[in-house]
Amino acid sequence: MNLNCLEIAYKFGLTSKGKKGEEVLFLCPVHDDHSPSLSINASKNVWMCGPCREDGNPWKLAAFLLGVSPEDKKTIASWLKENNLISDNGFKPQQAESTTPPTVVEKYEYRDGWRLFVWRKTLLRQNLFALCHRR
Ligand SMILES: [Zn+2]
Repeated sequence: MNLNCLEIAYKFGLTSKGKKGEEVLFLCPVHDDHSPSLSINASKNVWMCGPCREDGNPWKLAAFLLGVSPEDKKTIASWLKENNLISDNGFKPQQAESTTPPTVVEKYEYRDGWRLFVWRKTLLRQNLFALCHRR
């Protein structure tokens, strides 16, 4: 996995507002920024935003810009994949999550008038598919 802070910022639609030495400056989209506070050090491949008190590696930048926790590997990895920043074989989020059961966010149970069938539908947020059981 070879992530690049600048690439992530550009894919996120940020526009460079100038340069200060090694650092490329951006308006931080996370806080109300009027003087570019989000700086990316291209040679060290690190970033920071002073007012947000956040800094780190490219992975943390993606999490920061997406507004999710760096632990939210699935969201970050799928965004990176959508933007062609990582490939399927470069990173496998499934492996990291194989021990975590999916989160059930909603559960429905309903019967028809004759009570012949019971339908259950469970929406699994992490897997983004619905399971239907009929009995
Ligand atoms: Zn900020």
